[in-house]
Amino acid sequence: MPECLFCGIAAGEIPATVVLDGKRVIAFRDVNPQASTHVLVIPRDHYPNVAALASAGDGLLNELITEAHQVAVAEGIADSGYRIVFNTGPGAGQTVGHVHAHVLGGRPMTWPPG
Ligand code: AMP
Repeated sequence: MPECLFCGIAAGEIPATVVLDGKRVIAFRDVNPQASTHVLVIPRDHYPNVAALASAGDGLLNELITEAHQVAVAEGIADSGYRIVFNTGPGAGQTVGHVHAHVLGGRPMTWPPG
């Protein structure tokens, strides 16, 4: 079993409700949803956070965002509006050290976030 939870999901070793299964990117439903749509979009390869993913510089971050939008389209929330969140660091609430975009929608969103 890999030490990283999301590496385990990407490898199919840990169960998840997968909604998008790409070559470099995979998306699955959050186990503790904070909105009627709450999907996590991750690269299959391990990067600890979005800055590390950006530094890789091979288009993977662009692909991740493009796929996050495709998830929003497939979930029917692209037109009503959705939020993409990268919690980065413990003070921001990051609890899993494998970069993940939260795609949230299907309910009114307030600002500032909690
Ligand atoms: P963050 O707190 O930004 O690091 O987000 C981690 C997210 O992963 C949280 O929203 C958790 O609910 C979610 N999560 C934790 N374990 C799993 C799992 N096994 N499958 C799907 N989502 C998970």
